[in-house]
Amino acid sequence: MPLLQGIAASPGYAVAPLHRIVKQAPTVTRRELPADELPAEERRFGEAVAAARAEIQVLAEKVEKDLGPEDSAILSSQILILEDELTWDSTLQRIRERRLNAEAAFTAAVADVIHGFGDLPDGFFQERILDLRDVEERVLRHLTGVGSAEIDRPAETAVVAAVNLTPSDTAAIGSENVAAFLLAEGSRTSHVAILARSLGVPAVVGLGAELASVPPGTLVAVDGVSGRVYVDPDPATRADFEALVREQHHISRKLAHLRDLPAESPDGRRVSLCANVELPVEVDKVLAHGAEGIGLLRTEYIFFQHKDIPGEEEQVAVYTDFLRRMAGRPVLFRTLDVGGDKVKRFLGARREFNPFLGWRGIRFLLANRPLFKTQLRAMYRAAAAGPSRIMFPMITGVEELRAARELCRECCAELAAAGLDHDPDVEVGIMIETPAAALVADALARECDFFSVGTNDLIQYTLAMDRSNNRVAYLYQPLHPALLRSLRAVIEAAHAAGIWVGICGEMASETRYAEVLLGLGFDEISLHAPQLPKVKQVIRWTTVDEARALVAQLIDGESGTANDALLKEYIDARKRSRGDGGRGGLPLRRPAGR
Ligand code: PEP
Ligand code: MG
Repeated sequence: MPLLQGIAASPGYAVAPLHRIVKQAPTVTRRELPADELPAEERRFGEAVAAARAEIQVLAEKVEKDLGPEDSAILSSQILILEDELTWDSTLQRIRERRLNAEAAFTAAVADVIHGFGDLPDGFFQERILDLRDVEERVLRHLTGVGSAEIDRPAETAVVAAVNLTPSDTAAIGSENVAAFLLAEGSRTSHVAILARSLGVPAVVGLGAELASVPPGTLVAVDGVSGRVYVDPDPATRADFEALVREQHHISRKLAHLRDLPAESPDGRRVSLCANVELPVEVDKVLAHGAEGIGLLRTEYIFFQHKDIPGEEEQVAVYTDFLRRMAGRPVLFRTLDVGGDKVKRFLGARREFNPFLGWRGIRFLLANRPLFKTQLRAMYRAAAAGPSRIMFPMITGVEELRAARELCRECCAELAAAGLDHDPDVEVGIMIETPAAALVADALARECDFFSVGTNDLIQYTLAMDRSNNRVAYLYQPLHPALLRSLRAVIEAAHAAGIWVGICGEMASETRYAEVLLGLGFDEISLHAPQLPKVKQVIRWTTVDEARALVAQLIDGESGTANDALLKEYIDARKRSRGDGGRGGLPLRRPAGR
């Protein structure tokens, strides 16, 4: 039973045969044309572009109808590529000056643009390149008459696999008969990842070349929470996944009634359950799952969606839109966290030797003050539209926090002087995601309004395991006593200073840790919206005393692995003592190896 590890891009489980999407790419031959044929060649190019534009338009309308305007904007950006002078003008120039046939001229123009992106393999540029390739293929199909616009959609429920999928492929496939998406390439920012999240379909991306060796029709089990894919699973794993899929449906039906109920333990401890989001398109799902607010808005993804750095007005509009749509529920805006695995060249970030130890988060922001201030001003202005919070990423000590707060004061003073509507009383907090911040949490707590623990990074830095390196993925151990002791210290420091503390790392999205988070004493849990009802259910039937007793054992545990076994025993015992499966059908069994 080979196991493929990829990047979890959209949560959920699936088990179904693999359906491979293979695309037939048109081939291009280069010809030199006699001068008198050039005007006709230009016209032929113009007609192919017009036909491609019309096709994209139809798809964009379909996506807008099915998914909403934000998703269709992904396709509209392809129309902009078609009209971009870099491709349009330079193709015409090549036809005129080099007497090239349209196919060769256009391919060369696109290659130039891609070359201009440099060799940065980050998600943003991969997506731009993918967009360009999509547009190129579409235009070439019209020029050569070769290749089919039709995508081979699965006729029966299947896990759709491909090297990569363009936005138009994804739109054409839709969600009918799609149990999950698997991509060899791609990142969490991939269009397909975004679309999968809004479709509510599990997705794992970045699976690498090994995905190509899985023959079509092979049964695969997909874990969109951990990013694991089991090829030809053994009967026990298959049964586990089938149960998880059934439970997934059953739970969403069964837990729907929890939507408007509080996440409150039987002995009266209330936890605020919020959602992590990246793009406006996710807000409807957030509300549908009953989130009390947005507990982490990773603003970098809004930047990644734009061709240029969005200006203040543009950011005010996007942030205000979030606040309006959340209708009075708080939105926690995290300032840009670029660097690490989220490099974006136009902001001046560069690939580094040790990107996770490099110029990222608050370090990058404080070195790019105009950009930082523009974002802060936009956040303070948008805050006039609803309850907002501002949070800084990657803090390691009080100086960074003070410098950032000083800029907040400057921004508010400027906005007041300019007579611009804003809310200067927005709560300002920090991510606790470095061991240094956890160790000086008492000092930090005196100078901010809240903490939110980013366990993705805190685990990476505490256990010295690169979160993007599959070979050390086994060290991602949320129950490692070192991590639990850090969490306990952070929560104690926050509460001693009278501020609230939340958690927004992926750990919060795993139902089995819900009791642990309750027992540790988090005031807010922010997670993927689809997981929210399950976590709420666990909180609603666990007393704080029970949860604390569990945490006390785990904190004294000897290792992460030993604690995993202990938690499993605890959950199994509770399941037995409760009768009906104990957790109302909540997933208890995790796929092998989890
Ligand atoms: C984290 O580190 O846990 C976190 C939420 O931030 P990100 O995953 O964006 O680094
Ligand atoms: Mg982080």
